[in-house]
Amino acid sequence: MILEKIKKKKYDIQDIVTLLKAEGEYLKLIYNEADKLRQSIFGDDIYLRGIIEFSNYCTINCDYCGIRCENTKVSRYRISDDEILKTCKLMQGYGQTTVVLQSGEDPFYTKEKLGALIERIKKETSLAVTLSTGERSREEYRYLKERGMDRYLLRFETSNIDLFARFHPDSDYEKRIESLNNLKQLNIQTGSGFLIGLPGETYEELAGDMLFCTELDLDMIGAGPFISNPETPLNGQENPFDKEVYFKVIAILRLLNPRAHIPSTTAFDAVDPMGRNKLLQRGANVFMPNATPQKYRADYMLYPGKPCVDESGDDCARCIVARLKMLGRNIGQGPGHSIR
Ligand code: SAH
Repeated sequence: MILEKIKKKKYDIQDIVTLLKAEGEYLKLIYNEADKLRQSIFGDDIYLRGIIEFSNYCTINCDYCGIRCENTKVSRYRISDDEILKTCKLMQGYGQTTVVLQSGEDPFYTKEKLGALIERIKKETSLAVTLSTGERSREEYRYLKERGMDRYLLRFETSNIDLFARFHPDSDYEKRIESLNNLKQLNIQTGSGFLIGLPGETYEELAGDMLFCTELDLDMIGAGPFISNPETPLNGQENPFDKEVYFKVIAILRLLNPRAHIPSTTAFDAVDPMGRNKLLQRGANVFMPNATPQKYRADYMLYPGKPCVDESGDDCARCIVARLKMLGRNIGQGPGHSIR
């Protein structure tokens, strides 16, 4: 039985493909096992990591992404350090213990600018700081760590070199992996992950992405479904998998990586109104409420149907507290660092 093989770490890619095709009672068993495993490692605590999408300027053109530089329909914005700080303080009041600062690939933010921002956040709040600002040099990562950065989040997006090249006209697969290795070697807690269902992707390729996460030995694994964005070259190209597969991916990732932090990612709410809640019952142990001030949200539409565009940071903060109450879970206390 495959679940036994996973416990003994003796599985192969075909086993994962079989699990991805599971249905009925067997699928229920997979979800149940993932939930039990999450509970046995993390208890009832869900860590809250508010995300501030602080700049949508981007110099590159990932084919799937709504803020790719050639999309002229977005108004470009940068949120001032003062407004970011103000937002961080509000987040802290709602029990969020990490701020995730995410942006496009925006060279305006030199390492010095980001370093100064991180230092201010660390001085004025008790939040842990995660950055998600794309590929940077080893020297930049080292510098940011020195200024207080706790973690870095950079998805490899797909571990298939041909798919990677097809959808990333300006990026190089080897360089992306080198960036991840640099982060790990510098002892920065590293999060990565992938898009579930790029156009043309097969079950084997998807299973390959899942195995690659385990190989990278990540502190955090984030994956969400590809959603076709009409303002991109992938307009009309649909996700090859059905919705249930997206949920299976997260549950199986938990079984494969018992001690990794696994967030319930935003894109799941775009495909199912209860998507993120369901994931918290199928292996995920982290929630990333959107903390971006409301007026910027419509310009950070990576994909259509991204939830909470009309909500404020306060609305999202209250919403997650209500969700956790409904699920009988607690807000995780403390920074929620890696437990690997
Ligand atoms: N510039 C940063 C942040 C990118 S946006 C970086 O490169 O790391 C954050 C994530 O959104 C991306 O890593 C990608 O996986 C996801 N994303 C972008 N477009 C998407 C789409 N159309 N559907 C689903 N997820 C998408």
